[in-house]
Amino acid sequence: MTTDQKALITATVPILRENGLLLTKYFYNRMFIHHPDLKNIFNMGNQKTDKQQMALAMAVLAYAENIADPKVLMPVVDRIGHKHVSLDIRPEHYRIVGHHLLASIQEVLRDAATPDIVDAWTIAYNQLAAIMSGHESGLYQEKTSQMHGWTGWRPFKVERKVWESEEITSFYLVPVNGGKVARHVPGQFISLRIFLPEMQVNQARQYSLSSAPDDSYYRISVKRELGKEIDANGMISNRLHDHVSEGDMVDLTAPAGNFVLPELLDAPVTLISGGVGLTPLLSMLYSLVDKGHPFPITWLHGCRNERVHAFKKQVAELADQHAQVRHHIFYDLASETDQAAGILNGFLDIQGIDGLELDPNGHYFLCGPSVFISKQYKDLVSAGINKDNIHFEEFGPQVLSLN
Ligand SMILES: Cc1cc2nc3c(=O)[nH]c(=O)nc-3n(C[C@H](O)[C@H](O)[C@H](O)COP(=O)(O)OP(=O)(O)OC[C@H]3O[C@@H](n4cnc5c(N)ncnc54)[C@H](O)[C@@H]3O)c2cc1C
Repeated sequence: MTTDQKALITATVPILRENGLLLTKYFYNRMFIHHPDLKNIFNMGNQKTDKQQMALAMAVLAYAENIADPKVLMPVVDRIGHKHVSLDIRPEHYRIVGHHLLASIQEVLRDAATPDIVDAWTIAYNQLAAIMSGHESGLYQEKTSQMHGWTGWRPFKVERKVWESEEITSFYLVPVNGGKVARHVPGQFISLRIFLPEMQVNQARQYSLSSAPDDSYYRISVKRELGKEIDANGMISNRLHDHVSEGDMVDLTAPAGNFVLPELLDAPVTLISGGVGLTPLLSMLYSLVDKGHPFPITWLHGCRNERVHAFKKQVAELADQHAQVRHHIFYDLASETDQAAGILNGFLDIQGIDGLELDPNGHYFLCGPSVFISKQYKDLVSAGINKDNIHFEEFGPQVLSLN
């Protein structure tokens, strides 16, 4: 890109900040009219709540703001790349998105989108698409070179369906062809795809693997998402709970994601989860214990009450059996009986735990709702923990930018 073109992109930042959501809503609408088949790939739940449109608007804005040096966006490119690979997004999808995004810029911004601005955005988009699909091509290659790895969708069978709490159910998934599976790195997720008869489309969602790495099966643990109104109930989670039984088939992509436990970690580890955010951290916990991690492992978990407290017994047993594992549990409203059993009352608060040691060299993994992650992150930073040692995963389009 020329310096003048970069300057033109930078000049559109205020317009994007003002019209970003309008633009991306218009764009998705336009694209789905021309390519209804893409509804099988995009998350139509996030479309209803505007989350996807907001995430795209923020990504376009971040790109425009950093056009002088797009390298600073590489951590984001990597995170989005893992999600794209997990959804089997290919270069041809970038071409369709680019066509409709550029047309939307002209149609929404009208006179403000001068030919020079449109030319600059065309070059900028193509540059971004090349960076992203180049990065994703490397991630696809990693999948094919991994033992038992694969790319694209592979049929799996639900071998077991296990109740974990009033709202979380686990699914043990094995390949239909009876083969082995690629071992995941603790913290990674798979995408699961099923057909939704009421919408006549396939829909995919990401689910973190909640089991220890294994080459014969995957376990996911899914929370039933209830909306405020019955027709706003989460589509896939409710379908899995109510209609997908042992013996049924689902499609999976191979494990992906960069929110992972590093292979070598010579430091204390603290795993902090809210609600169903415990799933990737549970896989990390099993893995650390299996490897005999010689430093303290602290499990901090908050949920509404005992009825929705999944994996309570399993974590308590691990803590009983392994001296280096400590755990502290919070319930939003802990009864007297809960408190007598050691449960802490209120929202998870690291400052409210007697004797909790926050080692500055330790690593901290957070997962839960966005507000939960923000709070824990800020509290850890206030307690003197270096931002580089704090890692987090959001269960939806990425909206937080904390570090
Ligand atoms: C990396 C990653 C890992 C994840 N791991 C897990 C995991 O281990 N376990 C887990 O349970 N989930 C996990 N998730 C979340 C999961 O992918 C799904 O987002 C979740 O199951 C909800 O999907 P759904 O189809 O049921 O809901 P959707 O249909 O996608 O709806 C999403 C939300 O929007 C609400 N909604 C729907 N329609 C409307 C409307 N018209 N107005 C307002 N609100 C509406 C729904 O009630 C729901 O809460 C993960 C997500 C990511 C990105």
